[in-house]
Amino acid sequence: VDGAFYDLPSVVIDDVGRTTHGRHVLLLTDYDGTLAELAPTPAEATISAELQADIAEVEALPSVTFGVVSGRRLSDVRVRVGPEVEYVAGLHGLEIEGPQSKFHHHALDAVVPVIGTLVQAARQALAWCPGIYFEDKTYALTCHVRLAPSECAARALLEFETLAEPQTDADVLKTMSGAKALEVLPATDWHKGRAVEWIRARVEARVREPVSVVYLGDDRTDEDAFRSLGAVDVAIGVGERPNGALIDWRLEGPACVDRFLGEFVRLRRRE
Ligand SMILES: [Mg+2]
Repeated sequence: VDGAFYDLPSVVIDDVGRTTHGRHVLLLTDYDGTLAELAPTPAEATISAELQADIAEVEALPSVTFGVVSGRRLSDVRVRVGPEVEYVAGLHGLEIEGPQSKFHHHALDAVVPVIGTLVQAARQALAWCPGIYFEDKTYALTCHVRLAPSECAARALLEFETLAEPQTDADVLKTMSGAKALEVLPATDWHKGRAVEWIRARVEARVREPVSVVYLGDDRTDEDAFRSLGAVDVAIGVGERPNGALIDWRLEGPACVDRFLGEFVRLRRRE
């Protein structure tokens, strides 16, 4: 990808300054590929010390509320980003935790036995594929093939999809493709965009005025969040995946997100 394809953090900050001037900002960000570099396995994707320090500074800003919206389990994200983060949404928004507020989608509990059966079946049926890894999220299951040889990866994902077909055909589960991964999760119309709306409503009730949302994300699932944004919000894609029609700006990766957060702190301190 050509370098000119990406926007400079300083240019993005100028727009964020103009668009959000005088308003409380709800800064929401995805985790994998946005705050943390993508790693061979989910366990290895951690945040740099610099970024962790910038997040702490964002958290300390009185005119900003910070949150992380991820496909991981909420508890997993919480361990990675720290207890200070005000809002954490897991499972693409199906579970959310904030100050004095919690959301647990009603469709989650019903799929627990279905996911349990599928985990066992998939581990057996796909044992032929070296490097395959199943992330059992209790309410969802992700099949990762980042470590599998490329000639096996596509076939393994297809087989995984076929195994889940009775449940996806019956609208109990739906599939979602990610970076070198395929996930099955409850078939609902809830997604990251609905999670953004849920969190925005709670923050607006607390600060008693409309807020501006600044959202950063790198994946197809973040496009639902981008679609939920309006004129006083800023949509920032990270990396090459997000659809250009849905975002205002594009940063190259977590290192640029770190620079952006540093400049965002300085911008907000000036206001
Ligand atoms: Mg991501």
